[in-house]
Amino acid sequence: MQKQFDVAVIGAGAAGMMCAAVAGQRGKTVVVIDHAAKLAEKIRISGGGRCNFTNVNAGPQNFLSQNPHFCKSALSRYTPQDFVSLVKRYRIGYHEKHKGQLFCDDSSEQIIAMLKAECDLGNVSWRMPCSVAGIGKSGELFRIDSSAGEILASNVVIATGGLSIPKIGATDFAYRIARQFGLRMVETQPGLVPLTFDSAAWQPFLPLAGIALPVEVVTGDKKSRGEFREDLLFTHRGLSGPAILQISSFWKSGAPLLLNLLPEVDVAEVLIEGKTSIKKNLGNVFAQWLPTRLAQGIIEATKLDPAGRLADIPDRLLRDLGQAVNRWTIQPSGSEGYRKAEVTLGGIDTRELSQQSMMSNQVAGLYFVGEAVDVTGWLGGYNFQWAWASASAAGLAI
Ligand code: FAD
Repeated sequence: MQKQFDVAVIGAGAAGMMCAAVAGQRGKTVVVIDHAAKLAEKIRISGGGRCNFTNVNAGPQNFLSQNPHFCKSALSRYTPQDFVSLVKRYRIGYHEKHKGQLFCDDSSEQIIAMLKAECDLGNVSWRMPCSVAGIGKSGELFRIDSSAGEILASNVVIATGGLSIPKIGATDFAYRIARQFGLRMVETQPGLVPLTFDSAAWQPFLPLAGIALPVEVVTGDKKSRGEFREDLLFTHRGLSGPAILQISSFWKSGAPLLLNLLPEVDVAEVLIEGKTSIKKNLGNVFAQWLPTRLAQGIIEATKLDPAGRLADIPDRLLRDLGQAVNRWTIQPSGSEGYRKAEVTLGGIDTRELSQQSMMSNQVAGLYFVGEAVDVTGWLGGYNFQWAWASASAAGLAI
């Protein structure tokens, strides 16, 4: 079995396979090592099994990082259209679902098969399942101590992703290697994750579990502010749905969320103006706007009677009701953590890497790509676009 390669890629996920394919097709000898038996488990489960493989609108504005400029170079050199061209070349059917999100018509397995075929075109070798005990560097060569024996490589690409979903093989491998070679890290945090509340505080909301509605949600200050208009979902433990997953990446422990449950309606204004013309009772007015259980919950929480006639309710109380709907302020106690998070915020500090090549500024030949790096996309295909773009940058530079 071949023992020495130009490139050893650790991690056969989205970024690892893309990088291996690009480097291999440029004539480099490449081996991909992964501790899992199956390729790219996260692609497989992504997008509900249909892989939201990119977003046609992806740009630097859709990513979080301590250095928001870092991702620009890679993203501009490998665009969503580049990946779409690849998908078209493999005749994989796809469709746009929502806000530029592209999904496979059939199955995310098609994306995995496509990346595997691209690797085959580059004569990539595989070591899977194969665990890596350590990586050392002597002179120009990296020595990888693996369960398949020692592997020597002139370049090592770390593509082992972040900490999300340990059940399917996520580990802190990239961070350990970064620390070993003296690279700085940005503290990690679960991102794109449901938010939770103290069980006592959440008790009154339990009957709302299962209700979904479009909302506007805001958190943060001037420096790091998140604002999204998406669907919200009430759960037994707290809040979820795209609106919450998006805002979770901006949310800091202890900070409140400001939710507008009816972004299209200024509730206080409509109620006060309608006192003379709207004959209905409060419950009926609300039922036109919000799911019944939620409407009732809000009215009861403001100590008003759903059967009360609008005309009989003082303006002051209608304003309070408007606030409760249009400016609902709520403080999560935490999140569902890496067990449920779609991504990991933070990671390898971008100051340690070249934005052109993703290579370490300190350790020649050592590259980090994909989610391991402190670049995290919004929900909606952006994270795969970063995986493709950063991996392509490294694959072309090696
Ligand atoms: P990964 O794809 O996680 O690949 C890392 C690889 O490294 C894995 O194969 C793993 O087995 C291997 N590995 C880890 N540790 C070791 C080790 N110690 N030794 C050897 N190998 C190791 N993003 C989107 O853009 N669109 C979506 O639709 C989408 N859906 C998602 C759904 C879910 C449920 C989740 C969890 C994530 C989703 N994401 C989505 C995010 C996206 O999957 C990741 O951002 C992306 O996979 C990151 O690519 P990566 O190659 O850096 O890491």
